[in-house]
Amino acid sequence: MIGVFGGTFDPVHYGHIKPALSVKQALNLAQIRFIPNKIPPHREIPWLSSEQRLSLLKSALQNIPDVCVDERELRRDGPSYMVETLQSLKQEMPAETLCLIIGMDAFFGLTRWYKWRSLFDFCHLVVTTRPGFDQASLAEHMSDEDYVYLTQKMTQDVNALSPLETGKILLQSVPQLDVSSTQIRTKLLNAEDISQWLPDDVIQQLKRFTLDDNR
Ligand code: ATP
Repeated sequence: MIGVFGGTFDPVHYGHIKPALSVKQALNLAQIRFIPNKIPPHREIPWLSSEQRLSLLKSALQNIPDVCVDERELRRDGPSYMVETLQSLKQEMPAETLCLIIGMDAFFGLTRWYKWRSLFDFCHLVVTTRPGFDQASLAEHMSDEDYVYLTQKMTQDVNALSPLETGKILLQSVPQLDVSSTQIRTKLLNAEDISQWLPDDVIQQLKRFTLDDNR
């Protein structure tokens, strides 16, 4: 099984990396592919350029084994739809079971994703806990029908995934890091300390990118 972790990474932070590595360990994944999007369909244009986001992500992940940065969404024209990304991964690796890892906040918005039900034709979904987003309020974010559709797929048992190729939703507790890219951007603009949330060399690079453009 391999993990697929998509995001805007604007910029990357430990709230992305530590939960992903915790999932890797819990599910014994052979690899995790971090996939930065080019044109995120559900949000504003990113603050950093695609090249900057990619460069920071590569630096932050460079010494971590069995983790790679997959640039296919950056190379593809048009909006970065995850269903298309999974389809292309599956074409490349037909024998591999894919686990798409998303945080609870992203799960709340899942039913607004392009062709979201088709995601389950290609992968299992692993939903990780995130501070401020309680699973108990999931039903408030979607129709009753979609809620039933999703809850029927849910499990809390890590071992429930491997016998099946696709279609389960694992709710997985991960280390809780109360941080977001939005918080990092705000702190950076206010010249506040972000040393807790990123490796030092990545912070230096981030400061060069942002100070250079006089943001
Ligand atoms: P922004 O503040 O710009 O919205 P973000 O910090 O939420 O960004 P994204 O790149 O949008 O980061 O998120 C990519 C994935 O990482 C999503 O699935 C999101 O749920 C997850 N994620 C981000 N931060 C955390 C965190 N602190 N804990 C757990 N998951 C997280």
